[in-house]
Amino acid sequence: MTFAGGGRFVRGGCPACTGRLLDERVARRDELAEAVAATEVRIAAAARAAGRERSELTLVAVSKTWPASDVLLLASLGLHDFGENRVQEVVRKAADVAAGMAGGVRWHFVGRLQRNKCRTVAGFATLVHSVDRPELVTALAGGAVVVGRQLDVLLQVSLDRDPSRGGALPRDIPGLAGAVTASPSLRLRGVMAVAPLGAPPRPAFARLRETSEALRRDYPDAVIVSAGMSEDFADAVAEGATHLRIGSALFGKRPAVP
Ligand SMILES: *Cc1c(COP(=O)(O)O)cnc(C)c1O
Repeated sequence: MTFAGGGRFVRGGCPACTGRLLDERVARRDELAEAVAATEVRIAAAARAAGRERSELTLVAVSKTWPASDVLLLASLGLHDFGENRVQEVVRKAADVAAGMAGGVRWHFVGRLQRNKCRTVAGFATLVHSVDRPELVTALAGGAVVVGRQLDVLLQVSLDRDPSRGGALPRDIPGLAGAVTASPSLRLRGVMAVAPLGAPPRPAFARLRETSEALRRDYPDAVIVSAGMSEDFADAVAEGATHLRIGSALFGKRPAVP
């Protein structure tokens, strides 16, 4: 079957344009399939080097800035977990993805969160990675009650003490954990961090591992460690990461945000 021209596939618009769109879609599918395969090779190598199993690792494809059509293509290639960092963007995208497939995907919220967006996030997120202050615990707990579900959350740990990049200081984690576990509508599942800028990631991920181990002594179910991005995930795997948040290695370089 050829995609070019074929008037049979056209519902309005010019046949040549429809053919070109289909060609572009096929080319993008090939590109994404190659990126998934290459990323899986890197993940397998990182797991092997760390003496761990691939099955211990969840790949979260960070689809921020990329269209719903890319999410649908990756879903057709077997990916189910997608990460986003802007509430408005993911709400629109999630609707388009839901309209384009049966079953749907799992959305992870990985960005800086504002209190007034918590109810919306509680409505769609499978896992909120970025809880870093008490007011978010309160707002997410309330939002989860309103939408009638229990919400899984991670505590974001600051590894560089730069408040503009998000995250709570390690010494504030026990207090936040207590607040989450005191909220029946929330479930504490673990920790998340972003490597510091301009410093080697491995020692930072080692500090995250210590924070995770301390947390698990009090809350044995808080087993998730969300760490590692396209450039540094091998170091994260070596330090016990369970959820890898990978964007550009899968989708390509993000278009500059105006
Ligand atoms: C964008 C983003 C990622 C993915 O980064 P890449 O370098 O593109 O893999 C991971 N985590 C968070 C919190 C992000 O904002």
